[in-house]
Amino acid sequence: MQMLNRFTKAVLGCLLDEGCLACQRPTPGDLCRDCDRQLRCCQVSHAPPSNLGYPLFAWGDYGGMLRQAIALIKYQNCPQLARPLGHWLGQAWLAHQSNHPHNRSLKLPHPVVVPIPMYADKQRQRGYNQAERLAEAFCQVTGLPLARRGLVRERNTSPQFELSGAEREANLQQAFRLGTVKGRSPVLLLDDIYTSGATVRAALQVFQAAAIPVQGVVVLARAGSHPPAHPAPPSLRVSNGAAVGAIARSIDRRRV
Ligand SMILES: [Zn+2]
Repeated sequence: MQMLNRFTKAVLGCLLDEGCLACQRPTPGDLCRDCDRQLRCCQVSHAPPSNLGYPLFAWGDYGGMLRQAIALIKYQNCPQLARPLGHWLGQAWLAHQSNHPHNRSLKLPHPVVVPIPMYADKQRQRGYNQAERLAEAFCQVTGLPLARRGLVRERNTSPQFELSGAEREANLQQAFRLGTVKGRSPVLLLDDIYTSGATVRAALQVFQAAAIPVQGVVVLARAGSHPPAHPAPPSLRVSNGAAVGAIARSIDRRRV
């Protein structure tokens, strides 16, 4: 009961936007020192993969406290937590762009950031699109323009976890259509989690059909790239591990 009460407080903290967005302990910023440190431990330092056919930039591996934070954002009405994480994603992406010799030499034009959309009914139920919230914060840091409706999800697709690899691709065929993107500026797709890449590939097809170049894909967390490097953070494990763990596991069942 005590664990549940503490978890309820954390959720209420999100709703009221008071205290640490992850654990609700008093703090002058978005995150208390412990949560800030534990979340930053989820950041990856390895180079993004180059064999996907498109540049993929991931801030962190999907595991540990990052997985729990994404659960809070998506399923516990805590979109505010996307703000600091989107800022970190933007800072890391900028650093990668400036440090990567290939990017410097190409002098790539500034892309328009397009979040992976939710189906309209689902977004109405949730009240927000977590990818859009991350993109807002990402654009605040990078200064890139945001096309909130650059892509539209036309179909309410089945949950990807129920499907095989081939079925995942078929499930997302024609799921998207082009939305509002001014001109022919290159696009930078942004999502919360990258798993099989089926969602990204379906989105890429839309822009390719419209002859709009896609400069790359930016995600907060990449699943399956490495075994979880960090165990569940001690603070959450002690205070509300059972409840948060159950919610985090629900991401794997609902993720598309
Ligand atoms: Zn905290």
